Amino acid sequence: MFKTGASLRRIVTCLGVALVFVACGGDGGSGSGSGAPAAVPTTLVPAPSPVLTVAIGTALESVPSVTLKDQYGAGMANVWIQWTPSSGNIFADSSLTNANGTATSGTWTLGTVSGLQTLTARAGALSVVAMAANVSPGPMVGLVTVSTTVTGVVGSTLSTPASVKAVDKYGNGVPNIFVQFAMWAGNGSITGNRQATNENGIATVGSWKLGPLSGQQSIRADDHITGATTMVHATALPAPASQFVVIDGNAQTGQAGKRLCTSPIIAVRDQYGNGIGQIPIVFAPGAGSGTVTEASVVSNAGNGYAAVGTWTLSGSVTQTLVVTSPAVPGASLTLTATVAPGVAFSVCTRYLGASGTPRQRQAVTTAVQRWQRVIAGHAQTSTLAENANRCFPGQPAINEVVEDLLLFVQIAPMDGPGTMVARAGPCAVHLPSGLTQMGLLQLDSADLELLLGQGTLDNLVTHELGHVLGFGTLWYSQNVLSGAGTNDPFFTGASARAQFALLPNSYAGTPVPVEGTGEIGTRDAHWRHAVFNTELMQGFTAPNMPMSRVTVGSLADLGYVVDVSKADAFSFPSTARASTTTATALVRDVLDTDIWGSTKNGRRVLVQGARNPLVWR
Ligand SMILES: [Zn+2]
Repeated sequence: MFKTGASLRRIVTCLGVALVFVACGGDGGSGSGSGAPAAVPTTLVPAPSPVLTVAIGTALESVPSVTLKDQYGAGMANVWIQWTPSSGNIFADSSLTNANGTATSGTWTLGTVSGLQTLTARAGALSVVAMAANVSPGPMVGLVTVSTTVTGVVGSTLSTPASVKAVDKYGNGVPNIFVQFAMWAGNGSITGNRQATNENGIATVGSWKLGPLSGQQSIRADDHITGATTMVHATALPAPASQFVVIDGNAQTGQAGKRLCTSPIIAVRDQYGNGIGQIPIVFAPGAGSGTVTEASVVSNAGNGYAAVGTWTLSGSVTQTLVVTSPAVPGASLTLTATVAPGVAFSVCTRYLGASGTPRQRQAVTTAVQRWQRVIAGHAQTSTLAENANRCFPGQPAINEVVEDLLLFVQIAPMDGPGTMVARAGPCAVHLPSGLTQMGLLQLDSADLELLLGQGTLDNLVTHELGHVLGFGTLWYSQNVLSGAGTNDPFFTGASARAQFALLPNSYAGTPVPVEGTGEIGTRDAHWRHAVFNTELMQGFTAPNMPMSRVTVGSLADLGYVVDVSKADAFSFPSTARASTTTATALVRDVLDTDIWGSTKNGRRVLVQGARNPLVWR
C-alpha cells in the first residue's frame, strides 16, 4: 500500500519527535491521510484508590497516579499530566508520565470545605478523577441564621422555614447537633422546639405561628453544649384592613360656617389593631353636615393614620362625617360634631402635654364659655404661621387657618407654691383687627389645688383668659392706656368709660382707674383694686369675682363685638369694703413676649415687643 509523500513525512516526523505527539496526533486525527495512524492519547486510567474519609485540612500521605494510554492500549511516556484539586492544594500541579505512561501527583493537602473533595488528572482533553475523599466538618463552633427573609401575616403559621445552621470554624455545616428553639419577641408560638441538625448542619423549627403585632418577631436558637446562640427574625405583615378607629377630633363643638378646631384623624387597622398604610380613605360629610377639604386621602404607611383637611360646619346642631374606603368594603366610621348655639366667637383650645386634671381642664372650658357669652361676634379668620418655640418653649410649629382664637394651655409646675400662679397673654394677633390670634395660658400646677379649695380656680382661669384676649396686654398696641408707670394710670377706651359711668360710683379721679401699685405685671395691666375690689380683672383673686360691664366694655374698645347684657351683676363698693382677706396677688401674670401679626400679603409685623417698658420696669 502506497502512502502519499505528505502522509509519510508526517509519520516520520511524529516518530522522530515523540515528545510532541499530542500535536501530531491532533493533526493525524483530523487529517485525511490513510495508513497506520499515529499514537494519540486515548484513555487516562486511575490507579485503584478507595474513597477516603478524612478530617478537614489533612495532607494525604498516599498520592494517586494515573496511566495515559494510546489508542492501542500502550502507555504513553513523557506527557505532562495536570493535577487539579476541587479544594485544597497540590504540591506540584503537573508531572510527566514515565516510560509506562504513568504519572504520580504530589502531596494533596485537603481544603476546608466538608463533603466530597476530588483530585482530577488531565491530559489535553482527557480527564479523570484520580482520587476522592469524604471530608468531615470540624468541631461545631457556632450557630448561624439561615433564614434571613422570613415573612408572614400576623396570627398565621409561617410557610417559610425558620432554620439555623451549626457550623465548624470554616462554616461547614455540622450534623447531629441538638438545637433548642424558643420564642423571643412577638408573642407567637412554636412547635418542635428541639431539633437535630441534618447532614448539612441545618435545624428547622417544627412550626412558627406569628403573634398579633406587625413588625419584627423573633425566635432564639441555642446549643446548650457549646453555648452558641442565634436569632431568626420574621417580618410580620398586618392582616387585611378591616376597621377604622378614631384617633382625634371626634365629638368636637364648633360654630356654624367655621372650621373645626381639630381636623379629625382616623386610623386604618386590621383585626389585631395593626395600622395599615396605603389604604385610600374617603371622608364624606353627612346630610347638612358642612364641607371638607382633602376628602380623599391615603393612609399613612407608618401608622395607618388618615386625616381630613378641614371640616367646616353648617348650621345643624349635630353633624356627621362618614369614613369609608373602597379597599375595605363593609367598614365605616361616623364622626360627629356639634354646633354650640349662640356662640359666635371661636376658641380652639390645645393642651400642651398631659396638662392638668379633669377638674382643671373643666376650669379652662368654663372660662372659655364665659367669654364666649360676652363676645357676641366673630373676630377674624386668618392664617397663622409660626416656627416652633417662637412664643414659648414647647410651642409646636404652626401653619393653619385660625378662626378667632387659638389658645394653648399649659398646666405644669412654674415656680412652686405661691408667688406666680399663672401667666397669660397673646403671642400673635390677626391683622388688621389687632385681636388675639394665638395666645398662651399657663397655670402653675403647684398652686391650683389650693386655689380650688379657696373657690377661686374658675375665677383665676377666667381672669387669665381675659389677658389672652387682650386685657392689659393689647392696651399698648391698641393705645387705650394713659399714665402707665405713674401712680394714676387710667384706661381711655370710650366703651369702658361709658360703662364705668353707668355704674354708680364715687370715684373722683380720671376713669377708668388702672392699678398703679404692686408688683410688675400687676400694675398697668389690671383694674385698680382699691376701686374695683373683687372685680374679675383687678389683680387679686377672690372667691367671687364678677365680670363687670366695664370689663366687657374694655373688650369693645379693643375691637371685639360684645354683648354688655351678659356681664355679671356688679356694683362698686364703698371704700370701707374695699379689701379682701384671702386674696392672692396675681404677680407677673401677664405673658411677656413679642406679639406678631401677619399682613394680608404674608408680611410679618412686630405689633408689640417683649418686655414692654410700660409694663416691665
Ligand atoms: Zn392678671
